[in-house]
Amino acid sequence: MQRRHFLRHAGATLALASTGALTACVPAGTRSGNRAAPVARLGSGIPELMPVKARPDRITGVYVCTRPFRAAGPRIETERLGDKTVVHNYGHGGSGWSLSWGSSTLALRMAQATGVHELGVIGCGALGLTTALLAQRAGLSVRIYARDLPPNVYSMRASGLWTPDSRICDAAHASVFGDRWEDMARISFTQYQSMLGLPGDPIEWIEGYFLSDDPPGQASQEPSDEPEYAEFVERARFTPRSVELAPGTHPFAQAHVRRYTTLMFNITSYAHMLLNDFLVAGGKIEVREFHQPNDLLQLPERTLVNATGYGARALFGDNSLIPVRGQTARLIPQPEVRYGISSSKVSMVPRRDGLLVQAFGDSGNFNNPDTTPVRAVSEAAVLALARIVEGMRQPA
Ligand SMILES: Cc1cc2nc3c(=O)[nH]c(=O)nc-3n(C[C@H](O)[C@H](O)[C@H](O)COP(=O)(O)OP(=O)(O)OC[C@H]3O[C@@H](n4cnc5c(N)ncnc54)[C@H](O)[C@@H]3O)c2cc1C
Repeated sequence: MQRRHFLRHAGATLALASTGALTACVPAGTRSGNRAAPVARLGSGIPELMPVKARPDRITGVYVCTRPFRAAGPRIETERLGDKTVVHNYGHGGSGWSLSWGSSTLALRMAQATGVHELGVIGCGALGLTTALLAQRAGLSVRIYARDLPPNVYSMRASGLWTPDSRICDAAHASVFGDRWEDMARISFTQYQSMLGLPGDPIEWIEGYFLSDDPPGQASQEPSDEPEYAEFVERARFTPRSVELAPGTHPFAQAHVRRYTTLMFNITSYAHMLLNDFLVAGGKIEVREFHQPNDLLQLPERTLVNATGYGARALFGDNSLIPVRGQTARLIPQPEVRYGISSSKVSMVPRRDGLLVQAFGDSGNFNNPDTTPVRAVSEAAVLALARIVEGMRQPA
């Protein structure tokens, strides 16, 4: 996730909410998605947000992965390889989960154009799993080949938010890629709406708060060593615009607070569900690593989808695939914490498999393939979160 991206998605046009308006937005007893919304109130009608136990000793793990970024956007195209057709479906930057259903729909159409009934999918991350499931639903028999399976794939280390244009291409390619982006985002968003309310809450809507001491628009601290990315949020809006909350209508100490509403992916239960659905529908999985394109010629399927994410750089020699390093930490789950937080320094996503904490504004990630976790960075992010929590008005 990227802070500037996240702010944009929360909406450029902000309405100032009065206490009354705020109360009207979250009436007692309403539910956000399938999860009880934070409806309890502090004395003056301020929503009661249960405090995050933001302490470094509650970190259960620090995770690093590389976003597979391509300046031109993801590679979704067909290539002939000996007697095979390979449909590429990789390079989704910081948007892989968000765009997965849409991107995999486009890739599957290309695969179906070859007329085959057996499909091989290389990769078992967000893109491989969604490709495989869509192919099964279309009546194909599918085998996944992958070096790693969940939970050991990079996709499991994502933040888990609807971020469909996060590091998806650079600004110079926005006009060429825009139509395709919109197709993919619409298909994915529609698919996610059909996955609400399922056991384990793989997908849910959440609310959260942007916090800043600076006026809107002046708080961004973007890493200076990254390119200018494409911005598609005003092209097609999927989530409600954020609302600026008036002082006294929220429990935070910061001068500027905006409430946003977005989709969250509980990645542990979500990936488990996808994998399970695939196997229940008769899907086969073979753990296998490929070192060069010609290795794929040994496979029995005539049509293959290449969903190897960052792995495509080595496997297909695609040096346009740039690793953008990202690190998150997970805190012990707190089911009572049902809201997200985002400031210029830190974000917290209230995932059910652990509160996800990420530092914002750090540089040195672009073109950095190093996946060694730096725990000190995550501890500092947790302490930044602790300072926010300390300033909050707490429930009695
Ligand atoms: C910190 C961070 C936060 C993020 N947050 C979000 C978010 O909130 N929302 C969002 O939409 N996106 C987010 N992303 C982006 C998202 O995680 C990626 O775009 C997505 O995971 C890419 O999925 P994938 O299936 O292409 O790749 P992967 O998950 O890497 O899967 C690749 C698969 O291919 C296999 N493979 C690779 N090479 C080979 C080989 N040579 N032989 C055999 N198998 C191979 C792997 O074993 C694996 O099974 C985030 C990324 C980072 C780093």
